Amino acid sequence: MAIQRTFSIIKPDATERNLTGAVNAVIEKAGLRIVAQKRIHMTRQQAETFYAVHKERPFFGELVDFMVSAPVVVQVLEGDNAIAKYRDVMGATNPANAAEGTIRKLFAKSVGENSVHGSDAPETAALEIAQFFAGNEIVG
Ligand code: GDP
Repeated sequence: MAIQRTFSIIKPDATERNLTGAVNAVIEKAGLRIVAQKRIHMTRQQAETFYAVHKERPFFGELVDFMVSAPVVVQVLEGDNAIAKYRDVMGATNPANAAEGTIRKLFAKSVGENSVHGSDAPETAALEIAQFFAGNEIVG
């Protein structure tokens, strides 16, 4: 299996509850390496750009309000098949449907306030990483 990088966000509902370390423990236990990480407070423009694919969805305004409501932790994760592996570790978008032991089952509050983001494909991973990290900030 190929080594990949994926982009992760620990969202405001998790940082507000002081769960950064608890989420990172699940990530590392799954065999993913955190090769870049920083805590930021997203601007509205950053959040709108990041979630532009959802701009026609009815929840877009609520999603952007949520993402700028408190600090987030943006990360680059590296490992075998990291993109699909992290999607598995995160669990389903709606925590009510998430499998036992997944981050969203353990920590998410609702379908909107669902604790983490992870890229869904190699192309989006590359774009998302580049939105938040310079190459020299990623140390594998
Ligand atoms: P993901 O790839 O599992 O994060 O899910 P999506 O790409 O479908 O949605 C992106 C994000 O939008 C989700 O992680 C949620 O934070 C948010 N979201 C999705 N569906 C809803 C919804 O019905 N209501 C609200 N408020 N937010 C939603």
